[in-house]
Amino acid sequence: MKIYVDMDGILVDLVGQIQRDYQPVIPWEPGEYNLLKVYGVPHDKWENLSIDWWANLEKTKEADQIVELVTQYGDLNILSKPSSQMCIKGKFEWLQWHYPQTKTENMFFVESKHHLARPDTILIDDCSAIVEEFRACGGKAFLYPRHWNDEHAKADENNVKSLKNFLAKCYK
Ligand SMILES: [Mg+2]
Repeated sequence: MKIYVDMDGILVDLVGQIQRDYQPVIPWEPGEYNLLKVYGVPHDKWENLSIDWWANLEKTKEADQIVELVTQYGDLNILSKPSSQMCIKGKFEWLQWHYPQTKTENMFFVESKHHLARPDTILIDDCSAIVEEFRACGGKAFLYPRHWNDEHAKADENNVKSLKNFLAKCYK
């Protein structure tokens, strides 16, 4: 079994930074994932965010607990869908700074996560569509409840506990 952990929305507080940098231009409906639309971030601006911008994002408040939990089962594998080359470099720096034990060969920066779906792989992600696709391709996946996904009603609960239960079941 191999566990892949997403970065933005799981370990990295991307949304918090967008909220500090921008004001919403339309109301944010619960479950709406497209924050660029909600916060009116222009596409060219998004694709040109600097390496430092990505590298300096804060951790989510659950990040350390998630990493600690996952590493009880083995190596930390990172599975991220970057938005630009700067994003990849920034995320690499971020990992070296916050979780230096992460091996380079366990960092996967891909366009489509479902290509890594297998019956013995688990994805932890905050995007409903990606989780559905990963499951449809035969992988196991945990949708971490966030205000911007289908589990938004549970976003304020202690979800590290439900992740812990999910992983325990997968490894039974
Ligand atoms: Mg994400």
